[in-house]
Amino acid sequence: MIKAGTGPRVVNITYAVSYAPAGPTGREEGIEQANVVGPEGIALTGTWYPFIEGLAVFRLRALLPRGFEGISEADDVSVKERPDGLREFSFAFDHPVDGISLVAGKYRVRTVRHKAVDILTFFFPEEEELGGKYLEYTKRYLDFYEDLIGPYPFRRFAVVENILPTGYSMPTFTLLGRDVVRLPFIVETSLGHEILHQWFGNSVYADRTSGNWAEGLTTYLADHQYEEMKEKGWEYRKQTLLSFRSYITPENDFSLKDFTSRTDRATASVGYGKTAMVFHMLQQELGADTFVRALREFYSKNLFSRASWADIQKACEEVSGSDLAWFFKQWVEGKGAVNIQVRDAMIRYEGTLARVFFDIEQKERTDRFLLPVVLRTDKGEIRKTFRIDKESAALEIETEENPRELLIDRDYDLFRTLSNDETAPVISAILGDKKRLFVIPDEKEEEYKGLTGFLTANGFTEKKEAEVTYDDIRGSSMLVPADTALVKRLYARLDMPEGDFSIVTKFSPYSVQKCIGIIHAASAVVMEDYLQRITHYGKYTTLVFKDGRNIEKSIEASERGMGMLLSAEVRGVGVPQLEPLSKIIDAVSGKDIVYVGEYHDRFDNHRVQLQVIRELYQRNSNLAIGMEMFQQPFQKVLDDYIGGVIDERTFLKKSEYFKRWSFDYNLYREILLFARENKIPVIALNIRKEIVSKVSKNGIRALSPEDLKEVPGEMDLSDREYKERLREAFAGHASPEGRNFDFFYQSQVLWDESMAHNLNDFLAKNPGSQVVVLAGAGHMIYGSGIPKRAYRLNRREYAVILNSGSEEIDKNVADFVLFPAAVPFMETPKLGVQLTDDAGTVTIAAVSPESAGGKAGLKGEDVIVSLDGEKMEAVEDVKIHLLYRKKGDAVSVKVKRKRFLFGDTEMEFKVVL
Ligand SMILES: [Zn+2]
Repeated sequence: MIKAGTGPRVVNITYAVSYAPAGPTGREEGIEQANVVGPEGIALTGTWYPFIEGLAVFRLRALLPRGFEGISEADDVSVKERPDGLREFSFAFDHPVDGISLVAGKYRVRTVRHKAVDILTFFFPEEEELGGKYLEYTKRYLDFYEDLIGPYPFRRFAVVENILPTGYSMPTFTLLGRDVVRLPFIVETSLGHEILHQWFGNSVYADRTSGNWAEGLTTYLADHQYEEMKEKGWEYRKQTLLSFRSYITPENDFSLKDFTSRTDRATASVGYGKTAMVFHMLQQELGADTFVRALREFYSKNLFSRASWADIQKACEEVSGSDLAWFFKQWVEGKGAVNIQVRDAMIRYEGTLARVFFDIEQKERTDRFLLPVVLRTDKGEIRKTFRIDKESAALEIETEENPRELLIDRDYDLFRTLSNDETAPVISAILGDKKRLFVIPDEKEEEYKGLTGFLTANGFTEKKEAEVTYDDIRGSSMLVPADTALVKRLYARLDMPEGDFSIVTKFSPYSVQKCIGIIHAASAVVMEDYLQRITHYGKYTTLVFKDGRNIEKSIEASERGMGMLLSAEVRGVGVPQLEPLSKIIDAVSGKDIVYVGEYHDRFDNHRVQLQVIRELYQRNSNLAIGMEMFQQPFQKVLDDYIGGVIDERTFLKKSEYFKRWSFDYNLYREILLFARENKIPVIALNIRKEIVSKVSKNGIRALSPEDLKEVPGEMDLSDREYKERLREAFAGHASPEGRNFDFFYQSQVLWDESMAHNLNDFLAKNPGSQVVVLAGAGHMIYGSGIPKRAYRLNRREYAVILNSGSEEIDKNVADFVLFPAAVPFMETPKLGVQLTDDAGTVTIAAVSPESAGGKAGLKGEDVIVSLDGEKMEAVEDVKIHLLYRKKGDAVSVKVKRKRFLFGDTEMEFKVVL
């Protein structure tokens, strides 16, 4: 014990300790080794001597074996060769530091003098030739940062290959992991980062009790800066926001003042990523020049002492002359990210001036920040930065040009929550999700047992394929082996990239907040090996590995900035380009499948379809017609009708046409007559209506095993644009409360998939056939409904001809768009009554007095017994009977009418249609 008030004393401590040599991976029983001593080398970087709290000046003397070179924090190093063959190293360093390390090994040393600094490299013989490259890069980095921040603080700088796989930066040297020194990006990024730490971290020390700012500042001025110099700074910043979105939840978020060092992806995403963004925003607030002056001031004032965020604030305030307390309070003490929404963009024209108005709203929190906005016009761009500090702000930009699009924060200058359109499905979204599942393929539980280590270490819950529910898919991120029925049900067949291991990440069909990683590997054992590695590739969508090496990595494209379309460019086609239909038929005559989209109730559309069929049939009699209007269980009835086995009445009755398709049969009659006359096969493309309606109400999960037999084995739910169009249609419907859009979406895709599958089945059996497909335009626009799905199944060439309707004439909407004039048609005459049927009885539900039936004397509750003597047992009987009558014909209607007190009576009426 040292008594107070007695002045400085000397305390001598003698101790001995021994460490194991480095293991082959630098890890022992899963623990990363910090201190090793062995014949291969020495790395003492952890706590290896009695630790002194606080900054202190050290002297180190080390006796090393023959052939060893030693490195420690030092401006002066001297070596004495001793008679016993040992080498005595003395390290001198006059600056106070937290602690020191000792690294030694049989290094080959290179050295060069650059201005006032000795630069050295210490590589093992196998990597010795790398020295030259490292010396050159080091010179460049030293020059770059001396210019930016101020003089390099030491007389010496060494690059040292670590016998362990870890890398650090210490005053006067950096350790680089043995297995990374050869990687090309190390000299281009990591080396610069570690050298910059000589300024920030190793001579101005981060006061960790109030938040370690040094990693974020170094990341900003190194890793980010190098991308900025390649004009890719915006991508780097967007990546930072994506990583925050993937790994940070309200539960694990923390303030910058609480960051000490990275321990996992979440702490890195805040301590490195968000902190770098805060320095970027600080630079935006101060302006680039003032920001650099503030950094220089901060550096020179705090050299060789501990500095905190408060010291950074002080330097910035002194240099800029402005009060920045709000900035540091918001960003260093606060958590999370700015969350904004753009709303109500509109243009007001005043003479030649266009004024663009839009609102910015902050969601859940109110921050103060600068918001850069780009207004894209037909001639160029206008940039404007707004100060936002309220819950909502009404903003305005003026232009003399034609405004096209607003792009909010296109360059990611603001630390904010990304909009859905700005995000891509990436692996980190799965690894960072609170709920993450690994799906074990059915009947492969044994094979996948070996994966448990990876799954537990990375927080995955295992779930058997058969037990995965709709709520799992919507509520969690998942890893799913490619050869499962589940993948087929969500994304149909996926062409997995070739390799020993591949992963393709997709958004969950039901939520862009959730991702599904589809993985493929030769075996479960191979899969586990590679899964260990995907954690280093979190920012990617797709990865492929072969022979242990990554051979492909890519990120799916997403929007840049929060966009808001103001006006689309008006486009048109030259009228002389309008071609007669027969020319268009010429153009499509070589295609295996010709889709002709219709608006069901427009007769002119059906005339067009017939013309296409006739003219294609003239060229190629091996033709078939696929029709949405008939459902697959009734294929046999269609065949019998086309084959002449049954007559039209029987066909209509047995195919349940009037129960299953509500449109007037006269719209389609000529097409079917032509097919029958020429024995052209007609394919019932549709799935049974009851199945679609069940799914629409309660999802695929509502289907019985019997129903599932009629459902195709694969479904692709991943067409996002189609989904968005359907969402608009869904929102437009008067929909009762509680209807679920996901189920509606499932039902639509099921409908399309069924038609594509039925079409494909026909072509598989009749490979030489050409097929004309008749279906609603909605199943064809942009190729989304049936065409692309059929193409996925059979790769056959197709063309889409649309009859114009409510959709915009847009690029890719179809191959041809037709503008047929309205054609009058012979509508089936009506009695003018509403009918219902039950157990063989047809009852009039309501009569309009002005209708033919009303005038003739028919009344509500009358039971229709017969028409023209023909017995009526179902509503469809009435419809079929009327199909063979024309306007002006008289129909004799026999009804049973209930009479008060007198019982039922039969009455007969003559209805003139
Ligand atoms: Zn660092």
